[in-house]
Amino acid sequence: MSGPLLRVENLTKHYPLAAGFLKKTIPVVRAVEDVSFTVDAGETLCIVGESGCGKSTVARVLMRLAEPTAGRVLIDGTDIAGLKKHALRAYRRRMQMVFQDPYASLNPRLTAGQIITEPVENYERLSRNQCQALAAGLLEKVGMSPEMMHRLPSELSGGQRQRLGIARALSLNPSIIIADEAVSALDVSVQAQILNLLMDLQQNLGIAYVFISHDLGVVEHIGHRIAVMYLGRIVELAPCEALFAKPVHPYTEALIAAAPVPDPTRFRLEAVVEGEVPSPINPPTGCAFHPRCPLAAERCRIEVPSLVPIDDGRVVACHVRAPAANGKAQPAAAPVGTPMCSS
Ligand code: SF4
Repeated sequence: MSGPLLRVENLTKHYPLAAGFLKKTIPVVRAVEDVSFTVDAGETLCIVGESGCGKSTVARVLMRLAEPTAGRVLIDGTDIAGLKKHALRAYRRRMQMVFQDPYASLNPRLTAGQIITEPVENYERLSRNQCQALAAGLLEKVGMSPEMMHRLPSELSGGQRQRLGIARALSLNPSIIIADEAVSALDVSVQAQILNLLMDLQQNLGIAYVFISHDLGVVEHIGHRIAVMYLGRIVELAPCEALFAKPVHPYTEALIAAAPVPDPTRFRLEAVVEGEVPSPINPPTGCAFHPRCPLAAERCRIEVPSLVPIDDGRVVACHVRAPAANGKAQPAAAPVGTPMCSS
């Protein structure tokens, strides 16, 4: 089928809070606002941002663990919101999830083999021999010995548990895997092994990933395209190399500047974003980044910037760096690479 494998259109998720006595309006947490992106087969789209920016909520809505307030999620052109029981089960096979904490996401009373085959047995009956063959094959695929199928999660290391979580996700032959902070609980050396495993599996099986992380070093390693989120919205989406070579949105620029650099001789901006992330219950008017942005102009306080295409495959939401006029992008008004706030 032509077109993207996954298309997310104007996705919005609000969580109403409990209304207070005599309160007329119910406050809502605006976790995700008007998020749109596509993912092609065999592609890795990374979603990056600070804690609380809404990236994990996007993952929950994609997996239909939460219903969207507005917007659509389409797999091969089919809107999953309209799917009922049988069709939804078929859809769930196509999209699987790898969680942040491998220990918490694995049933401690099941062996590795049972954990791998459990999702398949929800769909079809397997003989004991079929279960063992499936578990052995998937354990090998993720770099573990088939003998480990008899072990409990508590008898495995952190890296082995995450490999087991990946094997479980693979058991249903998914087209796309949502990995929510899948390596952030692991040691750096184990992180690299898991990232390399995910990339090898992608090359061999053509799986697409939506890879959610707060760690720019990780997304730079694995991503084809990167979406940067701030307070529920995508503020910049660009091919990985272009984003790291020339961040355009002031928030992306500050994130990259503030990331740890392993090579101390490499130039990096001594820039930080000042202030706290505002509350998603009462977000700032206009551009949500304006209270922290050194480039903020009057328009930024009033008008929410929309995503504007500015060069090859990149979209940016910023009135100053990517102003929209008559639906067309203008040349950048402020020099890209200007330090945010010198410390
Ligand atoms: Fe800064 Fe204005 Fe751009 Fe928002 S729209 S990032 S406040 S310059």
